[in-house]
Amino acid sequence: MKNNSIWEEYLKYDFKNLDSDINTDVLIIGGGIAGILTAFYLKKSNLKITLVDRNELLFGVTSKMTAKITILQDILTKISSKNINLFLKSQLEGLKLLKTNIKNLNIECDFYKNDSYLYTTQKNNIKKIKAIEKELYNLNIKYEKEELPIKKLNSLYSIKVNNSFSINIIKYLNKIIKSLENIEIYENTNIIKVIKKNNYYVAIANKYKINAKKIIFANNYPYFIKPLIFPLKVRLEKSYILYGNSSYKGDYNLINIDKNVHSIRFYKSKMIYLTNSKYISHVKTSDYDKTINSNLINKIDNIWTNMDLITNDYLPIIGKIFTNMYIITGFNTWGILSSHIGASIISSLILNEKKYVDYKNLFNPRRGVTIQKLVNSSINIYESINGYFKGLITKNKIIYYNKNKAIYIDSKGNKHIVNRKCPHMKCNLIFNDKEGTWDCPCHGSSFSLDGKVINGPSKYDI
Ligand SMILES: Cc1cc2nc3c(=O)[nH]c(=O)nc-3n(C[C@H](O)[C@H](O)[C@H](O)COP(=O)(O)OP(=O)(O)OC[C@H]3O[C@@H](n4cnc5c(N)ncnc54)[C@H](O)[C@@H]3O)c2cc1C
Repeated sequence: MKNNSIWEEYLKYDFKNLDSDINTDVLIIGGGIAGILTAFYLKKSNLKITLVDRNELLFGVTSKMTAKITILQDILTKISSKNINLFLKSQLEGLKLLKTNIKNLNIECDFYKNDSYLYTTQKNNIKKIKAIEKELYNLNIKYEKEELPIKKLNSLYSIKVNNSFSINIIKYLNKIIKSLENIEIYENTNIIKVIKKNNYYVAIANKYKINAKKIIFANNYPYFIKPLIFPLKVRLEKSYILYGNSSYKGDYNLINIDKNVHSIRFYKSKMIYLTNSKYISHVKTSDYDKTINSNLINKIDNIWTNMDLITNDYLPIIGKIFTNMYIITGFNTWGILSSHIGASIISSLILNEKKYVDYKNLFNPRRGVTIQKLVNSSINIYESINGYFKGLITKNKIIYYNKNKAIYIDSKGNKHIVNRKCPHMKCNLIFNDKEGTWDCPCHGSSFSLDGKVINGPSKYDI
């Protein structure tokens, strides 16, 4: 059983590291789906575009998703009724953009149409799906009430649309990256600070700096933005994903809207099954064993985890945040369609095109605080505090702490010594012996065995 995502074998980049100070018109921080697509939609301009990533391109959240493409997303039941119609339109628009790219660039990426189900196992959630039916009807989107193909999931009510798709997301993005000939790309270039100077920004990366007239944050967790309002508006959710042989086969995808998430699609006749989704401070290492013992996959080939940014109102954060500063993130585990429409919005803002104006308010990064958001913000603070105490009391027996250091001794007796505190907000790190990572229980940063930051809000290695 492998401990990595099935898409990682398709990653194959070798861009150079930043090795001198440079000037650019537009700097994109982050080479995941959001940053790559933003570069793609900007490449038609005469601007000098630079994209940097602290790791390899696409190695972040993007290469660890399940890659279902559907408008029938579980978050529809959480988005407020006044926004849902426009959000659905944005997803249809995103789908159009994706299909256009596949056609125009002739991309072979195992892209095929299938059915998509949304279901519930709880009586009191049926009305939520019925509310979505109304929205689909208003938008003239064809749907059917149809029983779920997997009886074991005990669905009480389910609907189906047939306008959904499967994809090998990395094959797709590989071709997009190949088309970025006129864009400067640097890997292993970690931006640790961004400073405003007169009418430009200075991004400090490792030893060198990048002077940029405009800057786009596509780095998933928006930790650079001041004032520090984002920690109150977003949190990270972690899920486990299995891939392997199942007695269920098919050409569909499905997701439920209940507390215990089950999300399924198929790739190369095997099942991809996502479950055990939790806010990071609630995650336990026993979730790993619980996932392995779930009974939908008979023989597991791969298990991996992934985290995405969840916003308080379940809408993405896309647009201008300050003069010449833009952001694209907050996809609530549905990043493929939202990053297409999001990248197009950012590109049209920078190029002064009057396109996609309908979505300006919907995704506005500076949108105001509502009562719901205030309640959710207090949950975020609670999550952080909860995580902080969890860090203080959790001591895995294979780790030896002193005041500042944590040590993991592997099976060969090698010592892996790291700083004990997460650089982000100084929470104690926990060693995750299942995944071989140091995890922050407060805000979800995770670090490799030898301390390289892999995920989450930390800007620094440990
Ligand atoms: C379990 C799970 C399943 C999912 N399944 C689906 C699905 O089926 N369908 C769907 O549409 N979406 C899905 N998603 C959502 C989707 O994966 C994400 O929304 C999307 O990949 C986020 O892309 P991104 O570009 O914002 O982030 P990333 O891919 O993480 O890219 C951000 C990049 O920024 C880089 N970076 C960060 N900080 C810095 C820095 N300081 N300097 C330089 N570079 C930096 C990182 O290295 C990273 O490569 C899923 C998400 C999860 C968690």
